[in-house]
Amino acid sequence: MYKDLNTSLRTLMTPGPVEAEPRVLRAMCTPILGQFDPEFTAIMNETMAMIRAVFQTENHWAFPIDGTSRAGIEAVLGSIIEPGDKVLVPIYGRFGQLLTEIAERYGANVSNIETVWGQVFSPQTVIEEIKKAKPKIVAMVHGETSTGCMQPLREIGEACRELNILFVVDAVATIGGTAVKVDEWKIDAAIGGTQKCLSVPAGMAPITFNSRVEALLLERKKIERGLAEPNQCQDNQPRIIRSNYFDLSQLMDYWSPARLNHHTEATSMLYALREGLRIVLEEGLEQRFNRHALHEQALMQGLLAMGLKIYGNQEYKLPVVTSVLIPEGIDGEAVRTMLLGDFGIEIASSFGPLKGKIWRIGTMGYSCRKKNILHVLGALESVLIRHGAQINIGRAVQAALDIYDHHKRN
Ligand SMILES: *Cc1c(COP(=O)(O)O)cnc(C)c1O
Repeated sequence: MYKDLNTSLRTLMTPGPVEAEPRVLRAMCTPILGQFDPEFTAIMNETMAMIRAVFQTENHWAFPIDGTSRAGIEAVLGSIIEPGDKVLVPIYGRFGQLLTEIAERYGANVSNIETVWGQVFSPQTVIEEIKKAKPKIVAMVHGETSTGCMQPLREIGEACRELNILFVVDAVATIGGTAVKVDEWKIDAAIGGTQKCLSVPAGMAPITFNSRVEALLLERKKIERGLAEPNQCQDNQPRIIRSNYFDLSQLMDYWSPARLNHHTEATSMLYALREGLRIVLEEGLEQRFNRHALHEQALMQGLLAMGLKIYGNQEYKLPVVTSVLIPEGIDGEAVRTMLLGDFGIEIASSFGPLKGKIWRIGTMGYSCRKKNILHVLGALESVLIRHGAQINIGRAVQAALDIYDHHKRN
């Protein structure tokens, strides 16, 4: 009745999901182990160690949440927010809105500052707002995939630490593609994603948090067991963590030698994440970030040579996503449809105020390689010619090749 699965081999140049590493897909075929089998718990421990390495942290707590990246965000925010808590979320794109929505759903009293999509905040602006609002938590996005901008975090992290405020960072798009320095930037909790620069399918979210967060979680656990006061917040709501699935204090027991039963670990996804992380560490963090930067350069120079314009503040460009202004009079969706149908290439559109205005091209993980860059530039040029766009013909691929030649010589 239903045919065999037979999906096309696509060139995925979106900000996720990106092409999975072939080794990751093979790892997913590994036979299932029981979740308390010593062979499996050894894999859990190795994965924790590798998550610490990619987040550049000495934190003890580093493990994946089962679910997509927003599951990681929910686990972190839901476990530290008590109803009525003040949370500050500076918004510079779609995913700042997501942090706001999730914090509100867990009962936080959220305040926002906003900037134009395509810009980032000067750290001083955020720090002034922190001093005014005096929140318990500041939650921010590191790499805004919706706009292609990246927020500098170090100064904000330092200010939060000084003022004893928890600093939570969505590093979903950046982890494995550009530096995320959890300890150096004084980030208290960070959330990563798998289907972006780690080149693992969607379905897990590696997170890490430090002892400041741990202390809060342990306090809430005591309250839950009736071992500590006060057990109610200002508005008479119990202070216990509301979600069972995303309760980090229970997950800590599951990811510690106690191995207290919680959920059933997503076995094949853990195999996938372990292999994805192993590839990242084999390549080396610096080498991997340099590779991402090289292909981003080749793509950008190709797009500029074609006569296209990059959207957003270039000084704070996210190295793993390039936002391109759709030329006047061109139907962005028709171009994307032809790229997919005729060339097997997927690029992304955008959201909210940028819908219909920009395309977003990802250079993430395994998708971020020379063949794909040349393929997308050549194809985009052909499709734009077909759509009657006024572009410089024959230059894009040459400009990218120049970048690669220059790199080889140096
Ligand atoms: C993709 C993305 C998310 C959401 O990830 P899901 O895996 O779809 O839940 C959150 N934040 C940022 C910055 C992202 O790029």
